[in-house]
Amino acid sequence: MSYIIKGDTGDWEVVIGLEVHAQVISAAKLFSGASTSFGADPNANVAFVDAAMPGMLPVINETCVEQAVRTGLGLKAKINRRSVFARKNYFYADLPQGYQISQFDQPIVGEGTIVLDMPDGSSRSVGIERLHLEQDAGKSIHDIHPTKSFIDLNRAGVALMEIVSKPDMRSPDEAGAYLKKLRSILRYLGTCDGNMEEGNMRCDANVSVRPVGSNELRTRCEIKNVNSVRFVMQAIEYEAKRHIDVYENGGKIDQETRLYDSAKGETRTMRSKEFAHDYRYFPDPDLLPLEFDEAFVDAIRVKLPELPDEKKDRFMKEYGLSSYDAGVLVAEKENADFFEKVAKLSGDGKLANNWVSNNLFSVLNAKNLTIDQSPISAENLARLIALIKNNTISGRLAKDVFEIMLESGHDPEKIVEERGMKQITDTGAIEKAVDDLLAANPDKVAQIKAGKEALIGWFVGQVMKATQGKANPAMCQELLKKKLAQ
Ligand code: MN
Repeated sequence: MSYIIKGDTGDWEVVIGLEVHAQVISAAKLFSGASTSFGADPNANVAFVDAAMPGMLPVINETCVEQAVRTGLGLKAKINRRSVFARKNYFYADLPQGYQISQFDQPIVGEGTIVLDMPDGSSRSVGIERLHLEQDAGKSIHDIHPTKSFIDLNRAGVALMEIVSKPDMRSPDEAGAYLKKLRSILRYLGTCDGNMEEGNMRCDANVSVRPVGSNELRTRCEIKNVNSVRFVMQAIEYEAKRHIDVYENGGKIDQETRLYDSAKGETRTMRSKEFAHDYRYFPDPDLLPLEFDEAFVDAIRVKLPELPDEKKDRFMKEYGLSSYDAGVLVAEKENADFFEKVAKLSGDGKLANNWVSNNLFSVLNAKNLTIDQSPISAENLARLIALIKNNTISGRLAKDVFEIMLESGHDPEKIVEERGMKQITDTGAIEKAVDDLLAANPDKVAQIKAGKEALIGWFVGQVMKATQGKANPAMCQELLKKKLAQ
């Protein structure tokens, strides 16, 4: 399904590449022992090296290196056994060193791939250009005092992974799917918590447009630091339309860095684009090149968890789920684990998926709860499914039991027992209801005998009504057919 924007002069397509800054999960910063804990008092987590005190030297944190390698493996990417830290020079009040330690032409991770699962069930492959390690800067605070600004260096020196995609995306939907999939992979790996609201995952979007059918790459604009998936998608849509307007009115696009104003729903100029040469990159003389051997990489590789794509394939094979259903379940590992527990305990993957994905998820969404806060445990949901499977209750009554479970938290057997909701499988009781109905409706019986078989369904419905939904529908159907054949 392609995304085409109709202009006055013809059809246009959008070309999107994303750069994501993902905060590495690590107790200490990239080059110092200071804590990375969120919400500490301002400037409480600052080592001398983070404050760029003269003579302080950076020391690489091995955990951060392992996390970058782990992420590279999760992105099916090339791991570079030798990489180099470089200084990216610029002046900013919250960057006391006067440069950021980053990686330039020799990053720790090279090319990889992310597979996107689109809502229509199709999949798309997006290339990863590189992943490099770098330090975060501090934070300037302008809203405490009317005339003064404050600096908090707690974040200065925290390890970031900058993950750069190839310009492979062609719609806001694909950009959204990419961010969700990347976040899912990072969370499965345990290398970044993916929390965009707290700024632990930040996205810059590079956007350009071109006439449909063309392969050129026109001038792009970079939209900086958008902090939600929805805003990234909105910003791209706005920016693409802006480019088309400019081109169709005979203008040209200047390469620049822009900001997205989510309140106004538009992007605006932040600064003209700086180029790599503006930063005067050079290898950091305080740090040796980063080198490790294959054994270091292998030790991380053997401990990789099952990732979303593999889990999805397994769910399709083991539980007979569709690609779409499996994709929904594996997006969050906690959801996948909950489903799998229900499926294993109940012995029915398809019913487990129906109850988890349809019934439970819609309740959780409506109440804004995560799966960990589910009022119904995986064990109890599996027991409800078992009651359906052994014909104790019908699927219809199970929905009522489910509602009561939500309210009370009780186990399903107890609810069924206490409220007398057991399905009637006693042939005698159903037979009596069937006989009564047939006797009361001779006209309908005659119509069925004359060939209007669809009316059998009406009789089943009436039996269910007469037994308050407790009759076994399959048994009703069978009995009715037998009686009508007499
Ligand atoms: Mn960066």
